[in-house]
Amino acid sequence: MKLKRPLLYDVDQVAQLWDKHPNSIYRDNARGRLPVAPIRVGAVFRWPRAAVNASVGLDPDADPFEPDREYLSRLPASVPAGRRLVHNSVRPVARRGGTRGSRFWLSEPGPALEICDCDWAPELGSHYRVDAASHDSVSSDASGSAAK
Ligand SMILES: [Zn+2]
Repeated sequence: MKLKRPLLYDVDQVAQLWDKHPNSIYRDNARGRLPVAPIRVGAVFRWPRAAVNASVGLDPDADPFEPDREYLSRLPASVPAGRRLVHNSVRPVARRGGTRGSRFWLSEPGPALEICDCDWAPELGSHYRVDAASHDSVSSDASGSAAK
């Protein structure tokens, strides 16, 4: 079963889509110059995906950052050939997607993934996590603190 994908972009993502530096996103927002106004989520800004997509000519549901990410609500019987099983940075990783903030998904092999050595789901063989050095929309909230 598929879970709904997150419907908000963070500042790094809109910066990429609008071809701006993240800092200029905050500046332009303060001046009311962004194509789509942000929503405040706690201490950080987020942007509605459908509206941002429309501003750059993408389909409302398109996910240009990970077009192949398929969220799972439960572990698969096996990992399909050519796919990677990936979990987010929440520890411990639950065996049901969404439990305590755990998320996992199937993805295409890519440079942002690194083999994970935690003992989650050993029956499925190797699994992966998002490389901390690459973009991870879950953990990039630190950049939001620059909004002040
Ligand atoms: Zn792991």
